Amino acid sequence: MMELDGRKAKRIAVAMERWFAAHQRDLPWRRRTRSAAQRAYRCLVAEYMLHQTQVARVLEFFDRFIARFPDVRSLAEAPEQEVLALWQGLGYYRRARNLQAAAQMIVSEFGGCVPRDVESLLKLPGVGRYTAGAIASIAYGQHAPIVDGNVQRVAARWLELGDALSPRELEQSVWRAAEALVAASDVPGDFNQAMMELGSTVCLPRGAKCDACPAAKWCAARASDRVEMYPPVKQRSETRTIHATSILIERGGKVLLCQRPEKGLWANMWQCPTVETDENAETQALVDCIQREHGLSVALDGVIGAFAHQTSHRLVMFEVRRATAVHGRVRNARWVAREEIGTYPISNAQKRVLEMRSGALRS
Ligand code: SF4
Repeated sequence: MMELDGRKAKRIAVAMERWFAAHQRDLPWRRRTRSAAQRAYRCLVAEYMLHQTQVARVLEFFDRFIARFPDVRSLAEAPEQEVLALWQGLGYYRRARNLQAAAQMIVSEFGGCVPRDVESLLKLPGVGRYTAGAIASIAYGQHAPIVDGNVQRVAARWLELGDALSPRELEQSVWRAAEALVAASDVPGDFNQAMMELGSTVCLPRGAKCDACPAAKWCAARASDRVEMYPPVKQRSETRTIHATSILIERGGKVLLCQRPEKGLWANMWQCPTVETDENAETQALVDCIQREHGLSVALDGVIGAFAHQTSHRLVMFEVRRATAVHGRVRNARWVAREEIGTYPISNAQKRVLEMRSGALRS
């Protein structure tokens, strides 16, 4: 492991800031705005969207979201269903709910202005140390460190962090390094963004482009030719596999949709009636479930498709079946016309289910 003294930290920080000034990508949340409050709000929205999502994907959503919710108040006062509908396709919908709850807290407790300091930012729902540091430094120029996967990779390679360290010790060492580096920087927001940018465009997990790196001469892993050994690979936590059967029931050009519970996976979103099942779902059990939950007696026609959907901790194996409503008055669900489906918040997995409406029966 290599030491990071104040002089070296300063040199690295200066090199990184210069590199960022010349190479930064033009991203909508980085553009100048009329006020610091507006910049902080855009930064807040971007950070929630970017959590576990690639920049390219966020670019498809950011401007539309800001056009509809241009400031903290408009987001705080919007119906939740409208926020979720605009988030459709970004996934991890808990972030959208947390973002709106954060906007509401900013209005009620911070006078409508995104707070400036890390301690206050940490009170917002869904904001951890990384997001708080990103907003404090980028929007307000505070010397607050950030560590995400990209920063961890860059710092671990510069300092050869990892050998003989537990995951917890590695994390602490990276935070300490990030703190020392940002303290040495002149423009903390640019320095932090430079770290993230370097990690996502140059210091790649495989095939790092060291010749294009502004800090290559201080990089211990490069000097020892052991770049890809840092950071050490983490053991992945086990993914749980779930089996679910979604049932497409149509009548008069409308499809039956129901709302998920307000807690848990895809909370409050809309879907075709879906039953968690064993690996081999029994037909009668599905029919009974639709009758019990939605008051409809149905005839199950057959399987029209199957696919696997990965969430952060689960692999959901979907089977999609078609059914015909025989009789009954529907409850806990509603018939939705084809052209109205887009106004409902629907997960990507359920969009795939709905796309199978024209699918041929397989059995
Ligand atoms: S020299 Fe290479 S490995 Fe080291 S930080 Fe730069 S890109 Fe990453």
